[in-house]
Amino acid sequence: MEVNERAYGLGSKRSAIREIFEYGKKRSAEIGEQNVFDFSIGNPSVKPPEEVSHVIKQLLKSEDSVLLHGYTSENGDCGTRKAVADSINKRFGLSLTSDYIYMTCGASASLAISFKAILNPDDECVVFAPFFTEYRVFIENAGGKVVVSQPNENDFQIDLQDLESKINEHTRAVIINSPNNPSGVVYSLDIVKRMCEILKGKEKEYGKTIYLIADEPYRELVYDGVNVPYLMNYYDDTVVCYSYSKALSLPGERIGYIAVNPAMTDAHTVYLAIRGAGRSLGYVCAPSLFQQVIKRCVDTKVNVNAYKKNRDILYNALTEYGYQCVKPDGAFYLFVKTLDPDAEKFCEKARDKDILVVPCDDFGVKGYVRIAYCVPTDKIVRSLPKFKELREQYGK
Ligand code: PLP
Repeated sequence: MEVNERAYGLGSKRSAIREIFEYGKKRSAEIGEQNVFDFSIGNPSVKPPEEVSHVIKQLLKSEDSVLLHGYTSENGDCGTRKAVADSINKRFGLSLTSDYIYMTCGASASLAISFKAILNPDDECVVFAPFFTEYRVFIENAGGKVVVSQPNENDFQIDLQDLESKINEHTRAVIINSPNNPSGVVYSLDIVKRMCEILKGKEKEYGKTIYLIADEPYRELVYDGVNVPYLMNYYDDTVVCYSYSKALSLPGERIGYIAVNPAMTDAHTVYLAIRGAGRSLGYVCAPSLFQQVIKRCVDTKVNVNAYKKNRDILYNALTEYGYQCVKPDGAFYLFVKTLDPDAEKFCEKARDKDILVVPCDDFGVKGYVRIAYCVPTDKIVRSLPKFKELREQYGK
């Protein structure tokens, strides 16, 4: 083979989510979009906040084309980084400066850069199942090894004993995603504190830093006033990977950031490694127009009422039909135990009814599917009889 084998492997085998999403588009062309119940992908169905649309329009009227379309510093516009740092400080009682913020093209870039910055060849990174499938791609691309920690299956919180057993002298990082894709679980304050105590103990035991990478694209998507602990407040060696893809419904604009906790002993070194990793990956200078938008809308949040309504309708109906689901506190996914031990088979049966859901084997947990309920509410309502039929097909 005359191309890079790893890259070829990734390019020639699409993720299960993308495969199903592409199938959905094809099927929609055949039978009409309204007849396909595509719950495969996490594309926000809620519009960006009015304020964001207004600011974009105002900015586009500006004559300053360098401000809107020119290069910024490779780590981001200084004013935008300051706005982000100030917002974090105000919300979480911290004292970051712009020197600890690196603007990125969304959480994917934040993660790819962070792993590249932190991991050396053969370093291990613990990921909590179920996990966003791209972690494996980013970690392995940085030369690291994925070590999966299995959850408590009754509530999908972290199994602390399992975590402890997965950390050794090769562990360099742990990645946590809360609210979680695909389970919708928000890790509780008690679990987070105990996890941090374990990590601190292991840092001492092995005499090395273990970084905690907090992947937070769903931080703002929580229901019923649930609190998502801010990891920097509990663990010094924390790097936050944030994105506005879901927080402001801007996934196609590719905008997010990395925040390094100034409290970590080698914060400046880590920040420089992040700049270097961004450079080596070619992720320099996040989109300028959207950096300006963020500077002006840093505390704006999307309205989550529609997602909450969808969650309630879907969760209540599916549990009534006899499905076992984790009640999500955040994000916009429902994690459902399949009626077939083989999740792929279950998805095929659902597909026969034009319901498109994603098997979660690649997320590190077998026997579950993910339903992305970020779709119009009427689609959820119209899908319910089909979910009921599917349940009945499997008998009592
Ligand atoms: N992390 C998780 C858990 C996600 O679900 C996603 C996207 O769905 C990302 C990261 C990547 O987000 P972005 O669109 O900001 O690259």
